[in-house]
Amino acid sequence: MSPSDISRRRFLKVSGTVAAAGLAGTTATACAPSDAQSGGAPANRAVDVVVVGAGFAGLAAAHAIKAAGKSVLLLEARDRVGGRTLTLALPDGGWVDEGGQWAGAGHDRFYHWIKETGHTTYPSPDFGDWLVYGPADTQFHRVSDESTVLPGMDVVDAMKAKLQAMADSLDPAAPWTHPEAKAWDGITLAQWLAQNVKNDNIRAFMVGDMSYACASPEQISMLSFLSLLRACESFDKLNGFEDAAQQDRIVGGVQPVAEGMATLLGDDIVMLKQPVRRVRWNQDGATVETDAMEVEAGHVIFAGPPTLMGSIEFAPSLPTARAKITQHWPQGLVIKVGMVYETPFWREQGLSGGSLDYSSWVSETADSSAPPEHSKMGVLTGFIYTDQALEAMQVAAPERRQRILREMAARFGEQALNPVRVIEMNWSTQVWTRGCYGGYLAPGATWAFKSAVRDAVGPLHWAGTETSPVWPTFIEGAIRSGERAAAEVVGG
Ligand SMILES: Cc1cc2nc3c(=O)[nH]c(=O)nc-3n(C[C@H](O)[C@H](O)[C@H](O)COP(=O)(O)OP(=O)(O)OC[C@H]3O[C@@H](n4cnc5c(N)ncnc54)[C@H](O)[C@@H]3O)c2cc1C
Repeated sequence: MSPSDISRRRFLKVSGTVAAAGLAGTTATACAPSDAQSGGAPANRAVDVVVVGAGFAGLAAAHAIKAAGKSVLLLEARDRVGGRTLTLALPDGGWVDEGGQWAGAGHDRFYHWIKETGHTTYPSPDFGDWLVYGPADTQFHRVSDESTVLPGMDVVDAMKAKLQAMADSLDPAAPWTHPEAKAWDGITLAQWLAQNVKNDNIRAFMVGDMSYACASPEQISMLSFLSLLRACESFDKLNGFEDAAQQDRIVGGVQPVAEGMATLLGDDIVMLKQPVRRVRWNQDGATVETDAMEVEAGHVIFAGPPTLMGSIEFAPSLPTARAKITQHWPQGLVIKVGMVYETPFWREQGLSGGSLDYSSWVSETADSSAPPEHSKMGVLTGFIYTDQALEAMQVAAPERRQRILREMAARFGEQALNPVRVIEMNWSTQVWTRGCYGGYLAPGATWAFKSAVRDAVGPLHWAGTETSPVWPTFIEGAIRSGERAAAEVVGG
């Protein structure tokens, strides 16, 4: 098809065409694979806007486009919506969130959609002391409140204050404009820590405590690390529970919120099992190809991990900065472990289930149990970050599980050795995600590619949590990115 074919047909409005084509839904909320997948000819569609990816970014974008009165089609590669959120139901009414699970302070758009889809939240369980492996004396301490001062924490706090001041001096929407941007993008977090923190254990503690980028300190530049901190306000907001990012859980889990958003869109808009492989585009519009169909659109919003959006074939090629940036934007690495017990037994010892231990594989845990009226079971969530995750994944599954449980027993006692179930989720091996929590720009890339991070290219627009200057790598960032990309389309 020639570029002029795109422009001639771009304004064709066919809202409802997909449903009219007689495609039965695979779920209550979405269309089945097209007729081509059941042996028919490729299906062709035309809409004002195609959105690629039905995670929170894509769902939010599609809602905003629909609300503006434009026709929209949301193409999702998987057989489900929700992307990096996935909720597993437990037999007694409880649930385990294998991906995103918390909502918190500043997550206004996420709370909006929780409410809009009829869901409710509850305060994250916190019924006792935290266990923290000390930075200076390498032993566990019970920490009951913020006034507890561990040996070595004065150094940690001073260094974090220094990092926070550097982060605060950045413009979160354009960190590359900072006078030190080139220098900070040229050194890694590991180099900065080596220069500023002399004690090995304190440095290791800080790496564990600041692991939210899910990149080892050798992999992430200072500018990228500081930009993420700035965009999420502060260490306290990022890592904390009360009045911070981990404040609340969603009753029933997070993925049902995404499913609710899909239901509200309607079964003529969301199409599952439609991986977008190729996009032919010119300044007037684009043709989006999946294995089974072609869709013509005035605009396309790409709402997924940058590395995956970069693996789509574009004809003609994207401009150099955009083509290159996705090659310098890997997804992070963290393995989330859900350990399900008959009861939250740690509470009987006055423990919250929360712990920090930079010397173990599982460097963080939290109590992720449901409120007792929904489930009596206890759910401990553990996180294994980057370098430890690489080591852990070299070990055969049964031995890995035994070591993880032994680490839990060292914190919470022998009962931790007897879970009802252990669920390990490694998002790096999920073909439609490639890693979590989000992507981070590699050293030199923030400085080199600058606003290519989210500059539209003709009719092509870039969403996904990684593109948000506010709460990137969180669901809040995803929703805001989708709404921002939709505003670009509707306004333009
Ligand atoms: C273990 C873990 C814990 C987390 N904890 C939290 C938390 O507690 N709170 C929080 O706010 N956030 C958390 N996050 C992060 C949060 O889940 C993500 O930031 C958010 O879900 C990203 O949404 P998104 O729409 O930008 O991308 P995604 O959710 O990745 O959605 C992108 C979608 O695009 C689809 N796709 C990809 N390529 C194509 C293609 N070529 N064609 C069609 N479709 C395609 C994918 O299948 C996917 O459905 C966590 C993530 C993980 C993994």
